[in-house]
Parts: sequence; structure tokens; C-alpha cells
Amino acid sequence: MSEPLQAPRGTFDILPEQAPLRLAVENVTRSVLESAGYERIETPTFEPTELFTRSVGEATDIVQKEMYSFTDGGERSLTLRPEVTAPIVRAYLQHGMHKLPQPVKLWYLSSCFRYERAQKGRYRQFWQIGAEAIGSDDPAVDAESIALLAEILEQLGVQGLQLRIGSLGGSAARERYRELLKAHLRANEDQLADDVKARIDLNPLRAFDSADESTRAVMATAPLLLDHLDKEDLDHFAQVRSLLDAIELPYVIDPTLVRGLDYYARTVFEFSSDALGAQSGVGGGGRYDGLAEQIDGPPTAGFGWAAGVERILLAAEGLPEPEPLTVLFIARADDAAATTATSFALSAAARRAGVPTQIELAGRSIKGQFKHADRVRARYVAAVSSSGIELKDFESGETTRFEDGDAALAAVLRGRGIS
Ligand code: AMP
Repeated sequence: MSEPLQAPRGTFDILPEQAPLRLAVENVTRSVLESAGYERIETPTFEPTELFTRSVGEATDIVQKEMYSFTDGGERSLTLRPEVTAPIVRAYLQHGMHKLPQPVKLWYLSSCFRYERAQKGRYRQFWQIGAEAIGSDDPAVDAESIALLAEILEQLGVQGLQLRIGSLGGSAARERYRELLKAHLRANEDQLADDVKARIDLNPLRAFDSADESTRAVMATAPLLLDHLDKEDLDHFAQVRSLLDAIELPYVIDPTLVRGLDYYARTVFEFSSDALGAQSGVGGGGRYDGLAEQIDGPPTAGFGWAAGVERILLAAEGLPEPEPLTVLFIARADDAAATTATSFALSAAARRAGVPTQIELAGRSIKGQFKHADRVRARYVAAVSSSGIELKDFESGETTRFEDGDAALAAVLRGRGIS
């Protein structure tokens, strides 16, 4: 016999034992962000391919080799979202959210798809939490957004965090700088790794990401974008930093911080964790004031971040243990039709009264049913038989006999302090 079919490489099933941990990530994210006025948004899993080629950028790894794109029955090219910022800006424009009080603050928990080399912490379908504040270029937006991610990661117990921040300036300064950097790379071309060499024109900034030793030596003497920013951008960056200083959020300035998406301008940042291996990035983001225009919208400022749920879980300690949910387990002590009917009616009444209840579904012996009740950590077992109901309270160890379901249920409710 052949093996049963497996899930695609780089994907994973979220099994029941992981559900409580993921719920904790969702709950903390929601509580921190909604308390700060962010509202939840969910965009479609797929979008027009053009949305990503125009915003994330033709020259990025994501667009060049990582997108899951397909043509649908109507001959449209669609792509499973590799990231969520561009879809959210698309939604902001499509729904005229510029008419709302600005900035519009949105958060999400969504799956993303990238055809990447799968390894620990790097998958082909993964989940991101994220926040976007669209419609203001106030440096307070940047600092607050970064602080909110810091708060989420701290509440979730993510270990060994480090925050790096940088500024990419505006597009004019970046353009001038690109030429400087290209000249530096060309002058040292013979010492560069092949993939860096191939991208000198397309994406010279990515050279800072290279792990190749001789490339790194060339980059150590490369001109830095931070030294070539316009005054306005430098002032903006200084204000962001002074706000982070005001709340004593530690960071290091990283002039080589390059993110794999083209739409960033001005502030960029990344949280990494030394509790993770090679894939140490937990979450990051930045300002994307030009993104709306790239997809035919009016000039619109924006700032946001995304953090990987799986990376958070890998780097977090002390996340809550799953709580037992079942309170009442209803066992059948004999096979009489009346017993089945009584136990079923009791389960419905118990659920209506708000008591989390499970019933026997596999025809186990009465001993097996008690064992199973223990496994699901129920506090009570109601053993129903033709002659009545025996209610065992595992907390007190007492067993009480009742004539009917109503009386047994009333005892359970009394035991839980509800009567
Ligand atoms: P990015 O959109 O590339 O800035 O990624 C934001 C965050 O998403 C990263 O810091 C990671 O935590 C997470 N992430 C990105 N790509 C992957 C992936 N392939 N698998 C798992 N998590 C990822």
C-alpha cells in the first residue's frame, strides 16, 4: 500500500494542541491593538498579481521567485498574497477610507504564501499578525506602532529581543544614493558574490544582506544611505528616535537595515530574537508613503509592520497551557433506548444552561467512559441508567443519585456557583 497523501512541502497543519497557543497570540494582538484604536480587517487570500508587482517591487525576491501566481478561468493573473500591506492599502483606496478620520488604523491576522526554501521558521504558507496606520506621516505614528509591536512581543514572552531601526529617506535621496552604491559595487565587482553582482543594477541595496564574506568586506566600506538623507527625512527620523527614547524602548540604529520590499521609505525597523536560529526576524515594517501612488491612488502616507506567528511561537516562553473546557461528561450505564434519550436530553439542557458538556460517542464500557471523562478533564460525570442518574463530582469525590436530569443538572449548576 502506498503512503497516504501528505500536505505540500513547506506547509503545516495547525493541530488541536497548537490551537490554544495561537489563540493566545491572537488575543494579545487584538487586546493591545484594539486598545490603541486599531480595528480588524481581513482581505481576500488572492489579489490581482499586479498589486504585488507594482508595490512590493519587480526586483524583489518575493516578486521574482516567490509568488504563487495562477491564471483563473477568466484569464486573469491572480496571486496568493505574499504579504498583507499592499492588499490593505488597496482596500483603503477601494473603500474611500481617506474620508474617515486619519490615520485609519487596521490590524490583521492572515496567512501569507511565499515559495521559499522551507526550513525551521520559514514556511511556504505562514501566518502574520500586522498593523497598518494609513493617512498620516506624523513621526508619532511610527513610534507608537513600533511600541505596540514591542508590547505584543513582550506580553507573549518572546525571548532575546533586539530592535534595529533605520531610515531609507525619501525617493529622491534614495535614487541619488543608489547611484553612489552602484558605483561602489562596480568598483569592487571582482570581490562580489555572483548573485550580488547580478543585482547591481536591479537591487543594489540587497548587497547588504549578503552572507558572502568577501561581499561583506566590500559592504563594510560602502557609503551609507543614512549619511545621504535629506534634512526633512533626518528630522523625521530624529523625532521617531526621540519618542522611542521617551518611552525607554531600547534600539540600535542599523544603517544597513534593508527590507525585502520596495515600498518602504523613511523609517524601517525589525525585531529579531536570539532565541531563533538562522531565521531570526520576528517582525518588522516601516513607512510606505509612496505605496498608494504605486497602485494608482493619491499620495497617502502609511506605516505598518508584520510579525510571523510561527516565529513568535518558536521564540516565546511561558505561553498559557490549554485550559480544560469540559465540565460535564454524560455517560450511559446501560444500552436501554430510554437511557440514550435521557442522556441526550440532559446534554442539550446542560449546554443551554451554559455548562460545557461532552457525551459518549464511541460505545465504550462504563469503565471506559469514566476513563475518558478523566482524559477530557471533566469535573462531573453523570452516569445515566434506566433507574436514574448518578452524578460524580471529581472535585469533592462525592457521588449523588438523582431521579431525573433536571435535578442532576441543578446540582451541577449549584456546584459551579450558578443556581
Ligand atoms: P516580511 O513581510 O518579509 O517583512 O516578514 C515579516 C515577518 O513575517 C518576518 O519577520 C517573519 O516573522 C515572518 N515571515 C516572513 N516570511 C516567512 C516565512 N516564509 N515563514 C514564516 N514566517 C515568515
